[in-house]
Amino acid sequence: MAIYIGPSCRLCRREGMKLFLKGERCYKPSCAIEKRGTFPPGQHGRNMRRGKVVGYGEQLREKQKVRRIYGILERQFRRYFQEASRLKGVTGENLLVLLERRLDNIVYRMGFAFSRAQARQYVNHGHITVRRRGLDRRVDIPSFLVEVGDEILIDPNFRGNVHVQEALATASGRGRSNWLEITDPEKLSGRVMGLPDRAEIGQDINEQLIVELYSK
Ligand code: SF4
Repeated sequence: MAIYIGPSCRLCRREGMKLFLKGERCYKPSCAIEKRGTFPPGQHGRNMRRGKVVGYGEQLREKQKVRRIYGILERQFRRYFQEASRLKGVTGENLLVLLERRLDNIVYRMGFAFSRAQARQYVNHGHITVRRRGLDRRVDIPSFLVEVGDEILIDPNFRGNVHVQEALATASGRGRSNWLEITDPEKLSGRVMGLPDRAEIGQDINEQLIVELYSK
């Protein structure tokens, strides 16, 4: 699966807000947005005026922002949208819930990683097991969709990893999700208690703009 490997801070500056893509550094004063402000990236970014974006431009920026928050490329994002529009309920909310159900997002939300990118790496490297209906399965696919009742376990050999421990120690400062529960802080396991409702996803997203963009 292709991923973006360019500079993360550039993406935040393009969207004019912190997207928390880089892990620990995003919470420090060395964050590029904190240090340099929200002007757009590029040689002339500092002199560029950020005019009000409306219509198509606004919809496009919102879609790009959400794609970047969850670290997904265009083709896969569009597939999530198609799936969301097939489901019952409000398409925009369905889309966000599908994105939240990704295994890399769950590992991040549970506090085991500083960012989704870091969580994705744990998954890719085979450090995550999903227990579903009593059956354990090592999952190395970041886009794997969790279900309510699934238990997420960190590989015993990986539990002492300094990045995991540091992320967990500071997780409460990043805000925990009510729909996820840490069942055993020693063994580093957690359970998906339910699916998030819109208010719990937060993050300053206007998903209706994405629906309008893809409905053209
Ligand atoms: Fe964005 Fe994090 Fe870079 Fe700050 S440090 S600009 S939040 S990726």
